[in-house]
Amino acid sequence: MINGTQATDQPILEVKDLRTYFQTRWGTVKAVDGVSFDLHRGETLGLVGESGSGKSVTMLSLMQLIPIPPGRIVSGEILLDGENLLELTEDQMSKVRGSQIALIIQDPMTSLNPVFSIGNQVMEAIKIHQDIPRKSVWEKALDVLRKVNIPAAETRMRDYPHQMSGGMRQRVVGAISISCQPSVLIADEPTTSLDVTIQAQYLKLLKELQRESNLGLIFITHDFGIVAKMCDKVAVMYAGKIVEQGTVRDIFNHPSHPYTEALLASVPKLEEDVDRLYSIEGQPPALHDLPPGCPFAPRCPYVMEQCREEYPPVFQVDEAHSAACWRLA
Ligand code: SF4
Repeated sequence: MINGTQATDQPILEVKDLRTYFQTRWGTVKAVDGVSFDLHRGETLGLVGESGSGKSVTMLSLMQLIPIPPGRIVSGEILLDGENLLELTEDQMSKVRGSQIALIIQDPMTSLNPVFSIGNQVMEAIKIHQDIPRKSVWEKALDVLRKVNIPAAETRMRDYPHQMSGGMRQRVVGAISISCQPSVLIADEPTTSLDVTIQAQYLKLLKELQRESNLGLIFITHDFGIVAKMCDKVAVMYAGKIVEQGTVRDIFNHPSHPYTEALLASVPKLEEDVDRLYSIEGQPPALHDLPPGCPFAPRCPYVMEQCREEYPPVFQVDEAHSAACWRLA
């Protein structure tokens, strides 16, 4: 059992050596460069890293929502329940999107249409993926709004997004995402626009939905507090690559990559009275002009000669714990 949900042996999602590049006037930007991970039903993966590390592009690649051009998935495999999504036509993929793999984005206002009622938008999502009578669509939409704890759901079906609070809108976005019972749900910083109380309620709701449908959940976040509370395992991204992955316990108790160490050190601690909060020195590298060797080298306190010459391979730290750092050689 994982966090009270049922995990199965066969991953529901396997991402293998995924590469997504963008052609820009400065050159090729390798936004995602050889990313691999898997996810089981009932499991929650936290994908963490600074802005521009490749987290969101990874998730847009899974949904195949990369703008082409300038973007392109250059290679790799995305196996959803054993089927490689990269071999599907756009028509086939549009059926998978929403029904088998769904995405909740950061800002609920940009994913809800201001000119349609809430009920209309939830029903539309259901109609696209399910061939059921109109009356059943209404009932299903009502049912899903109740599931995400929208009070007086029947009345709220007629409301428009601007008539709802931020927390309520985020719940509606959640309702649309789970309306067709996907097996994988990706949540991209889903609580950024919520205040702390609503955030806690929303996270609890996501966990409840996960338990109910045994879905695989991917959390994109830079908030280690959320990772500790919500996730079973963590993948840390830097400059388009996963530099460390392991269970939450591995990552919090034995971070093995200096970047993970630095990210954890930059989380403010209540018990510490400090004048200045820790921040990671320097900037992430420009992805169109990566230095040879380890891209973290210019910011790394442990940098060695070899680091500047050769990209470190992935070393196994423990059974489920690995990191790409020459210090582990
Ligand atoms: S490979 Fe070298 S530069 Fe890169 S993180 Fe490890 S020690 Fe630091």
